[in-house]
Amino acid sequence: KSQAPEQTGQKPGVPGVKTIIAVASGKGGVGKSTTTANLALGLQANGLKVGVLDADIYGPSVPRLFNVTGRPEPVSGRILKPLEGYGIKVMSMGFMVEEETPMIWRGPMVISALTQMLREVAWGELDVLVVDMPPGTGDAQLTMAQQVPLAGAVIVSTPQDLALIDARKGLNMFRRVDVPVLGIVENMSYFLCPDCGARHDIFGHGGARAEAEKLGVPFLGEVPLDMQIRETSDAGTPVVVSDPDGAHTTVYRAIASRV
Ligand code: ADP
Repeated sequence: KSQAPEQTGQKPGVPGVKTIIAVASGKGGVGKSTTTANLALGLQANGLKVGVLDADIYGPSVPRLFNVTGRPEPVSGRILKPLEGYGIKVMSMGFMVEEETPMIWRGPMVISALTQMLREVAWGELDVLVVDMPPGTGDAQLTMAQQVPLAGAVIVSTPQDLALIDARKGLNMFRRVDVPVLGIVENMSYFLCPDCGARHDIFGHGGARAEAEKLGVPFLGEVPLDMQIRETSDAGTPVVVSDPDGAHTTVYRAIASRV
């Protein structure tokens, strides 16, 4: 008698999608979604076909970051056509509910919504599908990591000790479900003063690099705290699309080439 894949512990792939990677953080507000968007655009700039699945069901950011609104239409039966921003196919819970609607779902509903966004969407041929995970390392995240056939995970952290402790928990979570950690990105790594040119290590600096070394995972790069990154993200034109030759884009493309 054949068993459902969940019961055997196998995770079936998504047809047409070569690789699925997750971007995760131990806590909110560290720039996980900003990193997801710019990493996805960096992968695309490096020549890959990319999609983004916004699994941050309680605080979807992908509609804002990719400046896309609307409702995905069915292509056949239950299968929905993803929306597209800057040539990247995107799917988000934000397309399914009103922005003001609070999501008060329980775990199983979250999982079924995620499964639907993963498996009942016409992703087409993709080299990489980047999944923006909800922040934290609770049961929901663990189940998601178990449900999605992930090739690996990128952990985003700020340099502070507290964020790093959370990042460490994230790392352990992926290890528990046998998902390789592709590396750590240090976001808000330092601040370059636009007036005086001096560099300020607001949250301390280098913590993530040292932590990565200690934990034996790759360090993928450091992204400064910069107005341009915030302004472009909030305007729905992430820096990799709005300033393709800029210094930040170089950093994100380098990170993309390491994952
Ligand atoms: P998370 O997904 O971890 O909750 P977001 O990506 O939504 O975090 O980022 C939180 C806020 O910080 C956003 O307003 C975003 O524009 C800003 N932000 C993220 N990274 C940077 C950065 N490197 N420099 C400046 N602002 C940033």
